[in-house]
Amino acid sequence: MDDFQVDVLVVGAGNAAACAALAAREKGASVAMLEAAPEEERGGNSTYTAGAMRVVFNGVDDLVQLYDLTEDEKRDVDFGSYSADQFLDDMGRVTNYRCDPELTDILIGRSFETLKWMRTKGVRFQPSYGRQAFKVNGKYKFWGGLAVEAWGGGPGLVDLEHKAAVKAGIPIHYQTPAVSLIEEDGVVRGVIARHKGRKVRIGAKAVVLACGGFESNAEMRTRYLGPTWDLAKVRGTRFNTGAGINMALAIGAKPHGNWSGGHAVGWDMNAPEFGDLEVGDNFQKHSYPLGIMVNANGVRFVDEGADFRNYTYAKYGRVVLGQPGQFAWQVFDKKVAHLLRDEYRIKQMTKASANTLEDLVEKLDDVDARAALEEIRRYNAAVRTEIPFNPNVKDGRCTTGLTVNKSNWANTLDTPPFEAYAVTCGITFTFGGLRINTGAQVLSTDGDPIAGLYAAGELVGGIFYFNYPGGTGLTNGSVFGRIAGANAAKAAKSESQPKRVAGT
Ligand SMILES: Cc1cc2nc3c(=O)[nH]c(=O)nc-3n(C[C@H](O)[C@H](O)[C@H](O)COP(=O)(O)OP(=O)(O)OC[C@H]3O[C@@H](n4cnc5c(N)ncnc54)[C@H](O)[C@@H]3O)c2cc1C
Repeated sequence: MDDFQVDVLVVGAGNAAACAALAAREKGASVAMLEAAPEEERGGNSTYTAGAMRVVFNGVDDLVQLYDLTEDEKRDVDFGSYSADQFLDDMGRVTNYRCDPELTDILIGRSFETLKWMRTKGVRFQPSYGRQAFKVNGKYKFWGGLAVEAWGGGPGLVDLEHKAAVKAGIPIHYQTPAVSLIEEDGVVRGVIARHKGRKVRIGAKAVVLACGGFESNAEMRTRYLGPTWDLAKVRGTRFNTGAGINMALAIGAKPHGNWSGGHAVGWDMNAPEFGDLEVGDNFQKHSYPLGIMVNANGVRFVDEGADFRNYTYAKYGRVVLGQPGQFAWQVFDKKVAHLLRDEYRIKQMTKASANTLEDLVEKLDDVDARAALEEIRRYNAAVRTEIPFNPNVKDGRCTTGLTVNKSNWANTLDTPPFEAYAVTCGITFTFGGLRINTGAQVLSTDGDPIAGLYAAGELVGGIFYFNYPGGTGLTNGSVFGRIAGANAAKAAKSESQPKRVAGT
């Protein structure tokens, strides 16, 4: 590859990058994308997702602007609605009200229009029946504010975005990681990248960084998230090593947000070190609200039913990492087996099953079996069975009197066969990153925008702290990617205009 010049250079080729590139091209800029991965691993974490996207909608009339529904679906399915206020409440609650108010307002306020815009670019959406709706009395009802997912999940999303990029004349350069920013007199003028062992100089009038967080970098994880984070498995791409963040910090960008925080979930104990595209996100085990989790000491350690899984799953990976041996077993009985998510029906699982609880606890590797049996009996005795079980609402069916109570969906474990699944911590992405303003310009440590530098997606800090409402990562990348791309194109255009000379 030879050196080249372009108006807008987008670093990364995931969802945030694709939205940035398409938006910049739409404004008339010449655009190129750089992707660290080879083509078969393209698209970063966005490819590994199920494609769930959190978006404001006021009912089925809005949803039909995003996807097609049959008349039967419109009549029979309870999609509910998800208002901007609910989205804001969710963001505030799960981040302990630390999320940046201005960026959060934009994320929420532009979510619906951005998904509509993506549809005009060829991205397709569908209702998320599989994971966000339970059938009660023969009727689907959606819960937890998530009714939209990309058609074909993450791979479908990235495939259609890349097709749109190719159609728009945007080249994607694979195996070409950016290694540093070219900066002249405080203005970003492009990047130095590496391609097949050679350095390439790519000049640009504006650069958009959309190349992920530092979740795949064990050294940075341990440095910022803390001890034992080097032991976590990575759920997605091996290419998000914090390069974009580091190259911006090196020219004076401001670090921002929850650098000690990240999104991490319960993930199969024996999953590989990084994500596996064949399995996608199916190593996750997210039905714990329907059962219990015990650690190596045989005891429960967290309220599995504190909230809908959408609002607890992203912080419980850290809780599992904190257990002895960094693992836990999730335990269920037959009464809820049919409600377990699809990821409980794959081949690659660490699973035990038995017809008695006595036999089951003996099969839980590395667990104190006697203590586990006593714990399950204590739990069973504490369940308020007079409160009806309903997985679609926070049913208040709880336990009382335990050291760690369960607040909702507490069912006794008494109906064989019993099943258990071993999980460790799988990190999804990191929360700390660069500070941007509402125009997606990267700010310097002195608070001013760095001319020619924009950022979007995972590597932006200040949006998520401690926890995260499921389905917000993709929407965040889309909204700010689109803003970054459009503004980068505008900046590139103004660079191309003949400069006004004073007095003329
Ligand atoms: C298993 C899993 C399931 C998930 N499910 C969902 C979900 O259903 N809904 C949701 O909203 N979110 C989900 N997420 C989170 C979501 O993936 C991220 O929030 C989102 O994809 C981030 O998009 P991004 O474009 O910022 O980063 P990415 O999609 O990770 O893209 C970053 C890109 O940058 C490239 N790159 C890295 N370094 C360089 C470099 N130096 N030069 C050039 N390129 C570089 C990478 O190869 C990659 O292509 C999930 C994540 C995982 C791992």
